[in-house]
Amino acid sequence: MHTTALVLFSGGQDSTTCLALALSKYERVETIAFDYRQRHRVELECRLNVLREIRAQFPQWALKLGQDHLLDLAVLGEVSDTSLTRDTAFKMEQSGLPNTFVPGRNLLFLTLAAAVAYRRDLQVIVTGVCETDFSGYPDCRDDTMKAMQLALSLGMDKRFLIETPLMWIDKAATWDMAERLGGPPLVNLIIEHTHTCYLGDRTHRQAWGYGCGACPACELRERGYARFRALQVPTPVQARSPMP
Ligand code: ZN
Repeated sequence: MHTTALVLFSGGQDSTTCLALALSKYERVETIAFDYRQRHRVELECRLNVLREIRAQFPQWALKLGQDHLLDLAVLGEVSDTSLTRDTAFKMEQSGLPNTFVPGRNLLFLTLAAAVAYRRDLQVIVTGVCETDFSGYPDCRDDTMKAMQLALSLGMDKRFLIETPLMWIDKAATWDMAERLGGPPLVNLIIEHTHTCYLGDRTHRQAWGYGCGACPACELRERGYARFRALQVPTPVQARSPMP
C-alpha cells in the first residue's frame, strides 16, 4: 500500500493537477522542482504561489502537503542548446523533435527526484509527463518511464513507483481531471496561478491563464481549455429554462 509521494512540481497546469491528485490519494506528499536556467524561470515563482493557494483554499490537502525541494540544476542549462535554455526561436529540428526538447531533462529530474525520495522515504514519484498531447518528447513516453522506474529501483535497491496520471489523456481531459479533484476553485487556481508559457509571459491574461498566446505551450493550453469548456455539460441550474 503506497501512502507517500514526491511530485515533480514545476508550477504548470499539468504538475499542479498531478499534485492535486497525489494530495487526494496519499497521506504525505512532498514536491520537487529544478532550476535549470529555463527561459520561463518565472514558473519557479508561480509554483510557490500555487503551493500557497493550495494550502489556503484546500485545508484537507494542506494537512498532507509537506516539504518543497528546489534543486539547482544549472549544469543542464550549460550542456543544452535548446530554445528553452537559450534565447532562440522555436522550430522543428531535423530529428523531427522541436528545439524545446532538452535532452536528458526528465531522466535527470527523475534520478534526482528518486535520490530525494530515497532520503525522505517517499514511495511514489508522480510526474505529469504525457504521450498523448505533446510534441513527441521521447523522455515523456511510457516506455521511458517504465525503464526509469526499473533502473532507479534496481540502482537504489528500493522499490519506487513512477506514477504518470496524465500519460494517456489530452489537455482537455487534464482540465477535467482538475475539476473533478477540486471543483471550480481548483480550475480557477490553475488559471490564475500556474504557468505554462515558454516565454515566461505573465502580462497577458487569456481565458485560460497568463501567457503570450502564441508559443507552442500556450497554443496547447489554449486548445485544451477551449475543448474542456466546450465539452462541459451544463449543470441542472444552468440548463433549467427561466421561470415564466
Ligand atoms: Zn507562450
